[in-house]
Amino acid sequence: MMNIIKNDTVKVVSGNHRGKVGRVLKVFPKSNRIIVEKVNLIKRHTKRRSQTEQGGILEKEAPIHISNVMLVCPKCSKMSKTGTGILADGTKVRVCKSCKEMITRE
Ligand SMILES: [Zn+2]
Repeated sequence: MMNIIKNDTVKVVSGNHRGKVGRVLKVFPKSNRIIVEKVNLIKRHTKRRSQTEQGGILEKEAPIHISNVMLVCPKCSKMSKTGTGILADGTKVRVCKSCKEMITRE
């Protein structure tokens, strides 16, 4: 189940990048992978294609598995499990299990 969406703040809890915190840039629901800002950077060598363009090494994030991260609640700043709450109008929302606050992000 994907309980992490784009622009969430997550903390890496296992793997090589344990302890890093970053913003979710992209989610791949089919493979359960996400791209987290500045986490799992891979180096790509680029060639200079024109006079103005600089060749060199480009760092780019590679996806990591969603099971390696925990959502950080924007309200209580704790790593939190999320539950589902239902608003009065029937809209489903994510709720932090630590502080019971709604976690809404675009
Ligand atoms: Zn919370």
